[in-house]
Amino acid sequence: MNALAQRIDQNIARVPDFPQTGIQYKDITTLFQNPELCDEILEVFAKFSAGKIDAVCGIESRGFLFGIMIAKKLNLPFVLIRKQGKLPPPTVAQSYALEYGTATIEVQPQYIEKGMRFLIHDDVLATGGTAEATAKLIQKCGGIPSQFSFIAELEFLNGKDKLLEFTPEIQSLVSY
Ligand code: AMP
Repeated sequence: MNALAQRIDQNIARVPDFPQTGIQYKDITTLFQNPELCDEILEVFAKFSAGKIDAVCGIESRGFLFGIMIAKKLNLPFVLIRKQGKLPPPTVAQSYALEYGTATIEVQPQYIEKGMRFLIHDDVLATGGTAEATAKLIQKCGGIPSQFSFIAELEFLNGKDKLLEFTPEIQSLVSY
């Protein structure tokens, strides 16, 4: 782990058995108690994406936090990816499999121009199902999933494997 990863790790709260027994929830919102560390994180994210993308999309809801800051810092548009029924029409939807059942995410397609290169940003990469569905949704609307970035990655769940079919440009600041 590099020095920044170590400090991020020390500033992420772990919540055992949340939201289900056996899951250790990584609460990244504790990072916002440390504004200087947030600045450093933002620098690293912005450096990764500068010149390589045309817009940022953030996945509801913790993907909005750094997602919008990255977009602002790079002076690029920000697009929200939300759970079904939250965004006003017009919307385009993408469903994906969960361990039990399915989930659906939506985007407002008027913000996605043909050939627009997107950074897809979220707080934690776990199984990769949500980020993969987001990439498919962007493609469905004519955009290009060019990069993914996350604060933390749960490597043992191999979520990255699902994303490599879209791009090798995948950044996680700390891995578990
Ligand atoms: P995924 O399994 O990669 O589709 O993850 C689904 C969503 O749940 C992502 O938006 C993650 O932010 C969140 N998530 C999954 N596992 C965890 C965890 N252990 N701690 C915090 N967030 C998680």
